[in-house]
Amino acid sequence: MRRISIFGATGSIGQNTIDLIARDFAAYQVVALTGGRNVAQLAEDARQLRAEIAVTADEALLPDLRERLSGTGIEAAAGAEALVEAARRPADWVMSAIVGAAGLPPGLAALETGATLALANKESMVCAGPLVMGTAKAHGGAVLPVDSEHSAVFQALIGEDLAAVERVIITASGGAFRDWPLEKLAEATPEQAATHPNWDMGQRITIDSASMFNKALEVIETKEFFGIDPELIEVVVHPESMIHALVGFRDGALMAHVGPPDMRHAIGFALHHPQRQELPVERLDLVKLGQFTFRAACETRWPALRLAREVMRTGGLSGAVFNAAKERALDAFIEKRIGFTRMAAVVEETLNRVSGEGSLIHAGITLDNVREADHFARVTADEIMKQQ
Ligand code: NDP
Repeated sequence: MRRISIFGATGSIGQNTIDLIARDFAAYQVVALTGGRNVAQLAEDARQLRAEIAVTADEALLPDLRERLSGTGIEAAAGAEALVEAARRPADWVMSAIVGAAGLPPGLAALETGATLALANKESMVCAGPLVMGTAKAHGGAVLPVDSEHSAVFQALIGEDLAAVERVIITASGGAFRDWPLEKLAEATPEQAATHPNWDMGQRITIDSASMFNKALEVIETKEFFGIDPELIEVVVHPESMIHALVGFRDGALMAHVGPPDMRHAIGFALHHPQRQELPVERLDLVKLGQFTFRAACETRWPALRLAREVMRTGGLSGAVFNAAKERALDAFIEKRIGFTRMAAVVEETLNRVSGEGSLIHAGITLDNVREADHFARVTADEIMKQQ
């Protein structure tokens, strides 16, 4: 039996992972399941999958979690340190699906045990790509991408020489506002932004799809994950969300990964890698689909894409600053303290304030430095939003 843990089990990726595990329950021993505020779901899943331990990130919810698990023999724990402790429990395969920078410490702890980390938490790669990949290498573990675009690139690169790659194209649906007139964007509400045309995902990533902050994170993730030169990474809007990414080679060939917008494909690929197992995803009828369309990704509509290029140029801890400022701006947008188009302005201003000679963004990429950069960026973004 394979020992597996799921961090962020109560979220959209976590629930899709559980869907796959539950279909073949006898093959797995579930070690740790973790969640945030949804302890009812966490306890239910821990009972169903007979997990060894359930951990909530919120310490105030520990009594509730304990109560729900009483009599089951399943351990309960809470807090950020408990998440890291749970990640240190030996497991063969660990799903990293916490949302935000909070996913980094447990992911690193899992990699230190030599586990295979299935990485949905793109923020880990954006904030600390070299640290994540270096930790995997140092401890004999592996990182497998779960983001559909990166899973697609990973699959297109199997057996290929990276030196023969001419370009990597990642697609974007364009999110909720791809057809809105530009002048209307400033009035967009969180409810409107959280409605995705194709994918069923968590609230935060859905809003990030509308602003393309999600795609910006993915561009940086592509550079960090595969070591691809930023100049070779392109974004193309593909409203149907059927082609997830394409890799172009120096002989002119373009290898595309095509599949329905269902995260169970990328999760299942990472779960069964290096084999391919049958997965419960729709098989595409190309004739019924008829056509795929593409559009340029306009940086006026989606300034987050331009900011991602700046971050890749600057390097160091600027990814951690970018992500943290984006998280604070997103919080403010969700709470209706700032408008939709303000988010990119806040992130840009934060990046401007923290860069320059002697800035902390040029310090080494360690967990402590990432935490410091993250904290500093959050405080700076909050200050900017107070002033605006
Ligand atoms: P959700 O918001 O649906 O779920 C997030 C999970 O993280 C939940 O289990 C949540 O707990 C938990 N959580 C929230 N805050 C914290 C915290 N501070 N500490 C620990 N746990 C926390 O997100 P998604 O599943 O949509 O996304 C998860 C990650 O996967 C993100 O990084 C996202 O970018 C990435 N991803 C998602 C895709 C998708 O299709 N959804 C596609 C590709 C990547 P609770 O709900 O109990 O509060």
